[in-house]
This record gives sequence, C-alpha cells and structure tokens, in this order.
Amino acid sequence: MSAAKDVILPVILPGATLGVMGGGQLGRMFVHAAQSMGYRTAVLDADATSPAGLVSHEHIRTAYLDAAGLTELARVADAITTEFENVPAAALEQLAQTRPVAPAGASVAICQDRAREKAHFVGCGVDCAPHAIIETPEQLAAVTDDLLPGILKTSRMGYDGKGQVRVKTRAELIAAWDDLQRVGCVLEKMLPLAYEVSVIVARGRDGQIVHFPLQQNLHRDGILAVTTVPAPNVTEAVSQQACASAHQIAASMDYVGVLCTEFFVLADGRIVANEMAPRPHNSGHHTIDACDVSQFELQVRAMTGLPLVAPVLHSPCLMLNLLGDLWFPGGVTVQQEPDWAAVLALSGTHLHLYGKAEARAGRKMGHLTVTGATPQAARATALQAAAILGIAPF
Ligand code: ATP
Ligand code: MG
Repeated sequence: MSAAKDVILPVILPGATLGVMGGGQLGRMFVHAAQSMGYRTAVLDADATSPAGLVSHEHIRTAYLDAAGLTELARVADAITTEFENVPAAALEQLAQTRPVAPAGASVAICQDRAREKAHFVGCGVDCAPHAIIETPEQLAAVTDDLLPGILKTSRMGYDGKGQVRVKTRAELIAAWDDLQRVGCVLEKMLPLAYEVSVIVARGRDGQIVHFPLQQNLHRDGILAVTTVPAPNVTEAVSQQACASAHQIAASMDYVGVLCTEFFVLADGRIVANEMAPRPHNSGHHTIDACDVSQFELQVRAMTGLPLVAPVLHSPCLMLNLLGDLWFPGGVTVQQEPDWAAVLALSGTHLHLYGKAEARAGRKMGHLTVTGATPQAARATALQAAAILGIAPF
C-alpha cells in the first residue's frame, strides 16, 4: 500500500466503491466479483465500449494520465486497483496520495519493465533465463554467443508474444533490434522448456499471503491457449519450489493484491521464473468456476483489507482461451458466432465472453472453463469442446 504506510487502514466494507484502472476483460471480471460482494465499482478507461466499462456502475472515459479523470476516480472510489500492468506508475502514485491503491505504483513499475523484473527475481534468489540488457549499441556488441539462439524482448509494453523476436545468429539479433526501433530490450537465451506453470498469490496489507494450486499453461504463438489444473506434469518438489519463489517475489516488494508469476520448467527439471503480472492473470480464469474463491474475489479482499483465505480447488478443470480466430472458421471473411449451444450442451462447460463486438485474430474474446469429476473427465470434455470450436487438440 503506498498511501500512509504506517497508518492502520480501516477495512473497506461492501457498499463502498472500488475503482479500477483499465477496462479490459480482467477489469470486467474484477467488477463482477466486486459487485457480487456488494461493492459499487468505477472503471477508468478511455474506450466507451471497454469490457469492464460496460458493466461498471461508473465509467470514467479518460486516458490513464488525464488529471481530471484521475481526480474523478479518486473522488468516487474508496480504494483503487489496476487490471492493466502498463498503467503508468505515475498515475497510481497520484491516486495513492488520497486513496489506498493496491498494488502500489512501485510494484507495478517493477513488473512493467523486464529488466527490473529480472533484477527483482535475482534479488529474491530466484533463477531466471540467462539474459543481457540491450539499451545501447555497445551492449548489443557485448552480447556473448552463449545467449544465442535467443529471444529479443522489448523491456516494456510486451504482451501475448508481441514485441518479441526469436533470433538464431548475431546478424539476426542486430536486424531484430533495428526492427524494434532500438528501444530498450532484454535478450534471453532460448531455453529447452519441458512445460510452463504459473503461480497466483494474493497478499494482504498485513503481509498475509495465500496461493492457488499451480496452473500448467500451454502457449501457442506466444499466447496462452490452454490452462490445466491440477498441473498434470508437476511434481511435489516443483510445486513447492515455485510456490516458495512466488511468495518470496511478492513479499520482498511488500506487494498488496493478486500477483501471478510465470515459470518455465526445463527439460532437466530446473525451474526459472519468466515474468510476473501485478494483477489477476489469464492463467487464473478457471478460479471463477473451479475454486471456492476466485482470483478476482481475492483481489477485492486484498485491496479492501478483508481477510484472505487459502483458496481450494473443488473441481479439476481446463481453461481454453477463445481467440478471435474462432469467429472465422475455415478462413471465412465475415465473422460468425461459434456454436455456443453445442458447447454448452456438454456438461461442465462454463462460458465467459467479454462483450467485445469485433473479433480479430489473436484477440482474447472470452474463455471456456471445463470442470469435471476427474482430470481425465475434464480433459475429455475440453477436447470435445475444442473440436466443436475449431481449437487444435492439446
Ligand atoms: P504474456 O504477457 O502474454 O504472458 P509475453 O508477451 O510477456 O506474454 P513471454 O511470457 O515473455 O511473453 O513469452 C511468451 C511465451 O514464449 C512463453 O510463455 C514461452 O512459451 C515462450 N518463451 C518466452 N521466453 C522464452 C525462453 N527464454 N525460452 C523458451 N521459450 C520462451
Ligand atoms: Mg508470459
């Protein structure tokens, strides 16, 4: 909490208004959770049709750094959070002058910048991929061969694999940095991944911390495609190490709110941290339907000072992302609605659509969580749903 750190803040109870910076689908699901607990909500997002703005009591339509918009949000909201990690930290700091803000701008600033993020992992004693920071031609020239083949990633504003170029040779690296307009980048060594997992923790302003069971994540083209819980390949040792690292990463920045850390598990069993998101995460969407308390409810609890409880997974599940591609089956040019009726005829399917009118390739339009009595049953139903929707088997 950045405001009045040493003052004991009162619990902000239902009936109060919770503000959120950003109007995307994460904000929408946060608003749903807050409203079902009896809070009012206010969303700040310039887009009149933003997924969260559409369902919020109040929608302030300004840019993130608009002084009047920020003043209005601070006026109507009793506490404020963010759903978008690239909200300028300065905006959160301005809000924190008069309202409790969680997570704090200082934490969000670390997560916004891959170079700072990696330094934070290292400072916590958590391994990350071998890497070099490239901000100058001299740093580019000094890159050692052992980092190739690698992935050049912009330090800021990357998501869903955007702002990333895979490079095999030094010549490709030089060309890639030019293509990225020579902005600050991190070159990461390409690692042999056995599989990917993420850990979502929630940390309260009193330092209490809880976590969800690990998720196993399958990415396609740099975008999350499928999340499976319980994580089928994870050993107890991997689970314990990843959870301990995620706790340490949150505690050492005095983090308040929900934080997701993504990890790679390598072919030799080692675990390295990839990146973190200072908010609920796409790999935690299943928690709405498969857990007794969702990641969005824990965000509400953490930012208001309500008690946190260790979440329990009550149903094995898979989460399938519904990307805009599914609206154009077989390459049709006019967008058409997928066959939701056929999917919903399958027992255990939970459909979430984000209210985005225009489908585009790679755009996250919604997700489908599939729960089952056993992991095998959930997987069988998820594969049936995927076949109906045109998602490749996994
Ligand atoms: P998002 O924010 O949507 O999670 P992003 O654009 O920030 O994605 P990363 O998480 O850095 O991107 O990378 C996306 C995916 O690319 C990873 O989940 C992984 O599958 C692959 N990847 C990234 N870095 C490496 C690496 N060093 N070695 C091997 N694979 C990698
Ligand atoms: Mg990622």
